[in-house]
Amino acid sequence: MRDAHTNIIPAEERLIDRVYWLINLRWIAIAGVVSTVYIASEILHIPLEVFPLYGVVFFLIVNAVLLRWVIVYFQDRKFFKKMKTLMSFQLFLDLFYLAALIHFSGGIENPFYFYFIFHIIIAGILLSRRATYLIATYASAIFLIVVFCEQCGFLTHHCLKGVFSAPLSGNFLYLMGASFVFMSTLYITAYLTTSISIQLTEREQSLKVANKLLKEKDRVKSEYVLRVTHDIKEDLAAIHSCIEPVQKGITGALNERQTDLLRRARVRSKQLVVFVDALLEITRLKLTEKIEMKYFSVNELVQEIQEMFAVSAQEKQISFEVCADPDIPSMKGVRVYVHEAILNLLNNSLKYTPEKGKIVWEIRNHQNVLFVKISDTGIGIPREDLPRIFEEFYRAGNAKEREKKGTGLGLSITKAIAEMHHGKVWVESELGKGTSVYLEFPSGA
Ligand code: ADP
Repeated sequence: MRDAHTNIIPAEERLIDRVYWLINLRWIAIAGVVSTVYIASEILHIPLEVFPLYGVVFFLIVNAVLLRWVIVYFQDRKFFKKMKTLMSFQLFLDLFYLAALIHFSGGIENPFYFYFIFHIIIAGILLSRRATYLIATYASAIFLIVVFCEQCGFLTHHCLKGVFSAPLSGNFLYLMGASFVFMSTLYITAYLTTSISIQLTEREQSLKVANKLLKEKDRVKSEYVLRVTHDIKEDLAAIHSCIEPVQKGITGALNERQTDLLRRARVRSKQLVVFVDALLEITRLKLTEKIEMKYFSVNELVQEIQEMFAVSAQEKQISFEVCADPDIPSMKGVRVYVHEAILNLLNNSLKYTPEKGKIVWEIRNHQNVLFVKISDTGIGIPREDLPRIFEEFYRAGNAKEREKKGTGLGLSITKAIAEMHHGKVWVESELGKGTSVYLEFPSGA
């Protein structure tokens, strides 16, 4: 069966998700830089090198567009390693942009230089510990180079006039202190983020192992159930076939008491046969790893089920209406399973709808998805039971009261069949008014 039970996302997909998140984050950063420059220069009247700053923003925008384009190209899993290299390279570039922005807006006097930390956090999340420390070293180096080149006059120092009474860049002690705090903050951040990241990865690994172990145990249990139910089924069938001739009087005349007891034995053994069959079915479905899907005619299937079910509905004096699209294209799947899933739902409606009630079966094709809706005017499902009715053996209280016969497996089987076809099933119901069950199958599953 399809691996629908694992919710653990492979590392590759997680990286791709995070890279897209990073791309979106860039647009927020660009908007942040533009608005900060605007507010600082136009509203707070701080004399800034506006043109070089907007120049850097221009490069940031071009880079963001290019990056998105490259990522769309690289998002295939086989490029996983290249994606990591690309992200490291991008982080190096981003640090360069940030250094340029800081340089044109006051250097060490600009408190925004602490934004270098964000890159270290991002590296800690996306990359290895080694790469994160490398990026922390590069960030420290590029910042120190800018600060000391400005100090030594190799680069022009663009002073934040009006903010500080004397330029901080001339204060050697301050420079040393600020640089030390800055560097140590970067390395501590690198250490903390990579430690958390490593812990999370290890926990995910152990969850993966536990999940695999659980699946294996579940498989062994299912195989055991399959073997036992198979044996029980054979014996039950034998018992059932022995009762019939005795009950019919073939083995000799029976008194009233004997006839009654045999009738009860037959009813019970029949119920047990139905239960064992359903148990076998759900266990087989669980153990099925690969299914062979073939195209089959949905129109023929609808007609077949309709003819079969109309007789049962008529016997119970329930009106049965079918609303099917005129020409539903063929569907790819396992015909017997789709047949079984639909029939399970129809039988439930029949079981839980009192005489003179109504069942409507809609079947439509829309954008390569086959929609099935079965509505009835039956007893409905209590609100508190709704979340549990797809669980194996679960039966709502009102259903148990009304209908002793029932395995609590029909909906689980339908759900397993739907998931096997990459489809889904869900229910809407109002107690005492009726139930609608929806089933969806992608036609080309
Ligand atoms: P069961 O053999 O009990 O019908 P299912 O797995 O088919 O087992 O259904 C699980 C439970 O969901 C039922 O016991 C019943 O409580 C509820 N149910 C399903 N279909 C209907 C329906 N059409 N009307 C009312 N209750 C329903």
